[in-house]
Amino acid sequence: MTHDAHEKSANQAKLVIRNIGLLLSGDLDHPILDADTVVAIDGVIQDVGKEKEIDTASASITIDAKGSALAPGLIDSHVHPVCGDWTPRQNQLGWIDSCLHGGVTTMISAGEVHTPGRPRDIVGLKAMAIFAQRAFHAFRPGGAKVYAGAPVLEQGMVEDDFKELAAAGLKLLGEVGLGSVKDGTTGRRMVEWARKYGIQSTIHTGGPSIPGSSLIDKDMVLETDADVIGHVNGGHTALPDDQIVALCERSPRALEIVHNGNERAGLLALRTARELKQLHRVILGTDSPAGSGVQPLGILRMIAMLSSLGEIPAEVAVCLATGNTAKTRNLNCGLVAPGREASFALLDTAQHSSGKNLLDSIQKGDLPGIGMVITDGAISVQRSRNTPPATRVPEFVHA
Ligand SMILES: [Zn+2]
Repeated sequence: MTHDAHEKSANQAKLVIRNIGLLLSGDLDHPILDADTVVAIDGVIQDVGKEKEIDTASASITIDAKGSALAPGLIDSHVHPVCGDWTPRQNQLGWIDSCLHGGVTTMISAGEVHTPGRPRDIVGLKAMAIFAQRAFHAFRPGGAKVYAGAPVLEQGMVEDDFKELAAAGLKLLGEVGLGSVKDGTTGRRMVEWARKYGIQSTIHTGGPSIPGSSLIDKDMVLETDADVIGHVNGGHTALPDDQIVALCERSPRALEIVHNGNERAGLLALRTARELKQLHRVILGTDSPAGSGVQPLGILRMIAMLSSLGEIPAEVAVCLATGNTAKTRNLNCGLVAPGREASFALLDTAQHSSGKNLLDSIQKGDLPGIGMVITDGAISVQRSRNTPPATRVPEFVHA
């Protein structure tokens, strides 16, 4: 071993999580793994399996999960951040950190649209988006990652604008329809330019969210053909049922169901996707901060709502908020598998739930308790301050 290689291995941070009672993979094809131990090195998962089959020696951090469940850190596919851990929408501080206590380790901006005085001119909107991407890349409340810098389409944008945004490192568009582009022809042209340069698009679906935004119906969604059908269940006002079903049937794009949408419409979209055998298209978000506020437990609430009322197994509902979103959004998180980001939520049945175990409690509509949240191989949160208390809580064993 060369001196340099030795130095590197000596400095590696090795995380071992053992005694996991239930391993939720985030992968819709295999939502539960027959494993009790996860090893990560320098924030990347190295091994997943049975403790006796894995090299757990010389760990820098060992966690005894005490029989609780491990899932990938949850992903919120639809947030509206502005600056730092503050939202002017409800004039609230610390909302991202609060969501981390709800198991969310990754957030995706659907546009920094609540920015007071948001510039609508093209150079201004590009500058704001680049600022948001840079600022949230560098600023990680409690370890949470916010992928921001999602400009909203305005009339007059040309192909070179998308090329320039991509060259500056941007990978997302804000919701199509929140700016001055409100017709399918223009929307589609700009979405195709974005796609050409590796920028993913999301469209607002349904009635106006707040005064000043507008209706986007199924025809505009289909014509624009954005990569993600944002809040297919409305944000909050949903399209008529036949239009939601048509979007599920006629578009191949991701179907995003959000907390700050219409719950009944969300269940309709879920059932339709399941009947079409296309659950892999369903991803979850909160669409917060919004008029409905911020929900630190919003993704957990979606998992419990869709599992209990939509009658899908809890381990499948977890995949909608993890692996499905990661695959749709091209992120290296969301799955418990070697090579993936070591960001996890450790969960257990909430104390006094009538469910006989974690999955049963979620299927009965209860929220799980979070005992620990890990981001990039480091402990971010011990017993959550926001969830109901978990029955079993992981323990930090030694450094
Ligand atoms: Zn929206």
